[in-house]
Amino acid sequence: MGHRILMLGAGYAGLTAARRLGTLLRGTDAEIVLVNDRTDFVERLRLHQVAAGQDLPRYELAELLRGTGVRRHCARVESVDVDRRTVTADGEPLAYDTLVYGLGSSGAPMPDAEHVWSAASPVSAMRLRGRLTRAAAGERVLVVGGGLTGLEVAAEIAEARPELSVALATSGGLGDRLVPGARAHLRKGFARLGIEVFEGVRVERFTEAGAILADGSVVAADIAIGATGFAPNPIAAASGLEVDGRGQVVVDAAMRSVSHPEVFAIGDAALAPGPGDRPLRMSCSSGMPTGWLAAGHLAAAIAGRRPPTLRVRYFHQTISLGRRDAVVQFVTADDRPRRAYLTGPVAVRYKEALCRVAVWSFAHDLPAGRRGTAAAQRVPGV
Ligand SMILES: Cc1cc2nc3c(=O)[nH]c(=O)nc-3n(C[C@H](O)[C@H](O)[C@H](O)COP(=O)(O)OP(=O)(O)OC[C@H]3O[C@@H](n4cnc5c(N)ncnc54)[C@H](O)[C@@H]3O)c2cc1C
Repeated sequence: MGHRILMLGAGYAGLTAARRLGTLLRGTDAEIVLVNDRTDFVERLRLHQVAAGQDLPRYELAELLRGTGVRRHCARVESVDVDRRTVTADGEPLAYDTLVYGLGSSGAPMPDAEHVWSAASPVSAMRLRGRLTRAAAGERVLVVGGGLTGLEVAAEIAEARPELSVALATSGGLGDRLVPGARAHLRKGFARLGIEVFEGVRVERFTEAGAILADGSVVAADIAIGATGFAPNPIAAASGLEVDGRGQVVVDAAMRSVSHPEVFAIGDAALAPGPGDRPLRMSCSSGMPTGWLAAGHLAAAIAGRRPPTLRVRYFHQTISLGRRDAVVQFVTADDRPRRAYLTGPVAVRYKEALCRVAVWSFAHDLPAGRRGTAAAQRVPGV
């Protein structure tokens, strides 16, 4: 029997890795199986749009993987046993020689979670969308978290539902990771959208009435949305793989687990060394390159291919402010803001192009390879 490669998760990182591996291992006896809990690819970058009521194109994994030699297996992964080299998915054991782990992340856990909504996963974004659909004029939506996702969620809802009262609470200052010009544009955009901002506040817990701050005061909210970061899928931490305190798999520069060399981890699931001696941040910007790297190093190990020389670096941080405005902050290789930034329609087109290129790359192997067409049809939600 050939070398059996089991890949878990068909997100940005997993699809990049699967398609690349299919190309690099064409003609070998390696068997590549990609396990995912749904039959379509979710554009997670756009989940704030989904929460705000927009319908996204649907991309079938069968189409995106056609002609790659990668076999798709739709099942929910329950556990990984690294000693037996077995994954359990929908109750069925699946053996592997090499595992590529890319189960992504969801919203960071919040206290009193029953009172908190989220846009971090497809399921939670659809639930939030349902709640927002039922919201009456004047209801207060409070987004907690001033990172990129929190900003995008607040702006998208405020633009789509101007009859709601939208607020954002952040422990820092609004846009404090942007250069002054970009920050001023962000502030102007928030003011235009009528978003009330609470800066320098720490939310301790939630009740039905809203968010309770560290000093005991209450920020009233009918709908509180948590956007304080992402937490990796907990399956890795329970598997015996070496993980960090958050549960990300600790990997080397080749995306190989430092505790189990037959396991690669990619995307949000991996704690990978990044530029400037800092780990890569959970993002699509670093997730796709980690998939590319893992595929290249794995193909080098089992088929004698030349290992990739790509170094992951950052170029930008992009923040959509609804559909008509955006801020693009250009950054150094190690993710520190540079002087250059874009705003307004140019920034909107830039961000839109990035989202499209990500999906486009799944239908057109980069830099060379098979060409195919991503089948897209409009369906409600994701
Ligand atoms: C609203 C929002 C906006 C964002 N905007 C940006 C942005 O502008 N730029 C940027 O760089 N990043 C952005 N991100 C972050 C980015 O989406 C993630 O970092 C990226 O999706 C990580 O890719 P991944 O492949 O590791 O995981 P994911 O894309 O989460 O994919 C994981 C895959 O695993 C599958 N899966 C999960 N659990 C199981 C299981 N138990 N069994 C089987 N399959 C499973 C999922 O269905 C999915 O297909 C944003 C995120 C959100 C929520």
